[in-house]
Amino acid sequence: MFYVLDDDDRILEVGGDWDAFARANDGLSLCDGSVIGSRLWDHVHGPELQDLLEKVLWRARWSDQPIHVNLRCDSPDCVRHLELTLDGTEPNRLVVRSRVAREVARSSWKSGLYPQPLMQTCSWCNRYHVRGTWMEIEEALQMLDVADNDSIPPTTHGICPECAGQLRRLAQSEPIHDH
Ligand SMILES: [Zn+2]
Repeated sequence: MFYVLDDDDRILEVGGDWDAFARANDGLSLCDGSVIGSRLWDHVHGPELQDLLEKVLWRARWSDQPIHVNLRCDSPDCVRHLELTLDGTEPNRLVVRSRVAREVARSSWKSGLYPQPLMQTCSWCNRYHVRGTWMEIEEALQMLDVADNDSIPPTTHGICPECAGQLRRLAQSEPIHDH
């Protein structure tokens, strides 16, 4: 699956199994041909994440080699580890390729209304911020005493300190060379 951005972060092309992937993922608004011409930032939530992604894209555009980033992009019932390759070696085009490296089913849970304040989630590793600690959804549900068939609290997207640090280091490091 891939998408191509122009210098203004507008989406020029999407391809591969993108449509199926987008439909299978809650909250992933990139879907079908309607995204062509829109800016990537219309589909990325959270100012911190935008800021860091911007740095990664900038670095990819100036690197003479494709750069690689690993991230989590879960579907409602799967934990999904993605490998992202950003290739900015052609002028005026940044090709972002995504490959599912690993997929693990998680116990089913429904999303919906829940009488709780917004819970922060990390857009990169998909962990939840509960009572001062970042944790996997299973732990978070236990912590909040939500049974499997109950709904989870509404969430807001952000980035956890670990992922922020990782991305900051990536954005600041020297260009990565393939071995
Ligand atoms: Zn994280």
